[in-house]
Amino acid sequence: MPRRLRILFMASEADPFAKTGGLADVASALPAALHGLGHDVRILMPKYRGVDAVAGDLTLAVPRLRISLGDRESEGQLYEGRAASGVPVYFLAQDHYYDRDALYGTADGDYWDNCERFVFFCRGGLEAVARLGEESGAPWHPQIVHANDWQTGLVPVYLRTLYRDHPTLGKTPSVFTIHNLAYQGVFWHYDMAMTGLGWDLFTPAGLEFYGKLNFLKGGLVFSDLLTTVSRTYAREARTAALGNGLEGVLEERSHDLHGVVNGIDYEGWNPARDPAISHPYSSDDLGGKAVCREALRAEFGLVSQAGPVIGMVTRLVEQKGLDLVLEALPGILAEGCQLVLLGSGDPGLEMAFSDAARQHAGQVAVKIGYDIELSRRVYAGADCFLMPSRYEPCGLGQLIALRYGTVPIVRRTGGLADTVVEFDPARRTGTGFTFDLFAVDSLLGAVRHATSAFRQPVLWKALVKNAMAHDFSWEASAREYVTLYGKALKARGAP
Ligand code: ADP
Repeated sequence: MPRRLRILFMASEADPFAKTGGLADVASALPAALHGLGHDVRILMPKYRGVDAVAGDLTLAVPRLRISLGDRESEGQLYEGRAASGVPVYFLAQDHYYDRDALYGTADGDYWDNCERFVFFCRGGLEAVARLGEESGAPWHPQIVHANDWQTGLVPVYLRTLYRDHPTLGKTPSVFTIHNLAYQGVFWHYDMAMTGLGWDLFTPAGLEFYGKLNFLKGGLVFSDLLTTVSRTYAREARTAALGNGLEGVLEERSHDLHGVVNGIDYEGWNPARDPAISHPYSSDDLGGKAVCREALRAEFGLVSQAGPVIGMVTRLVEQKGLDLVLEALPGILAEGCQLVLLGSGDPGLEMAFSDAARQHAGQVAVKIGYDIELSRRVYAGADCFLMPSRYEPCGLGQLIALRYGTVPIVRRTGGLADTVVEFDPARRTGTGFTFDLFAVDSLLGAVRHATSAFRQPVLWKALVKNAMAHDFSWEASAREYVTLYGKALKARGAP
């Protein structure tokens, strides 16, 4: 395997340029870690409305790109910028598609032309990269294309079909990462015409999914290697319970499916150097954490009391098990805990949590919104961090919580199962509290274990230190990806 790999990392969002969820964190931090390991990695994403405000000066890398979308053509351009990590970032511009208020849709639903928008991204993105250097005389050809989630699901398909005999992209293997199987990019079958792909691919062994076109399935079937963001989710995704109808495809490809757990950016998330929190602290000097807790109580209007503050920072969606939290809330309060929640999403859940905060003023506090600065104060000030997810491919919240010495209470599923180790008070090992069954009693059982440990300050301190000592920085995972890139290259006969 060549020592310095050229990797094209394609994703529909990357922090800080555009973000709706954990994918954006991964799409900026993993390339940064690969760059840190000495690889030539470049990100490619759409040029959304917000990009100019954060990206600074961009240079035009490919001034005119024409992509055929069935019976019409669309024009775009490719711009080049750079992330703070030093990683080059290409932005595919097509204002009609990407210069909009949101990334994928509004409260009224997904944008009606998402299929067209992301066919353009997949095909236009590859075409633009193939043409890099036409103007500057400095071409760049990736040895590996790493695509992510449904928005890039057609990339592996194009590499294996339309680009099969392309002079530079022809033999380029693709690695496809599933960040969440529940979002698949499923469209009307007639949209196949727009993809430029033959109808011979519209079969159950190809892109067809119960009579419709499924982008994610394209990625699953046509990529050289598949990954998902934890080992447990790699297993769970092959079951009918969590496979979202694609479990059969994943079972068939189980030898090519690898679980690589996400990391977090250890510089960006650091309680010793976080400007958003009132008192920095570290594992050697935890004094500031108690001050942060009182500051959090004051900011959220909670009364001071002896029990722990449980924090949540989350999208308010069914996946996250918030209905269970509402049901368990009286029991959580009866244990002497308080709850602080920062989140936004489903209007019904937003209302239910706002009502709960009114009903239990001083004990439950809720901020509806998406606020990264405030999330930092929740991570720092809370004693425990609750994630009772129905399923969780990896989860970043619990990793950030561990970094901030905020003890996770999680349901043992997906990445939560792989990253939180049950605390054993006798041996003082472990980093948090876990439960299996998606049920109020199970959740309350874990909360009870947490509060009982919290009442014993020496024990609690040992637990907090364990949590903070666990290393979930990106380097180890980035090395795993490099090994997989090597495997994909080898499978294609690269030296
Ligand atoms: P998912 O990607 O399913 O939303 P993850 O746990 O993988 O869940 O990642 C969520 C990321 O988004 C974390 O970095 C979390 O701190 C952040 N986040 C979620 N909701 C909010 C919010 N309301 N305000 C600020 N950050 C949030």
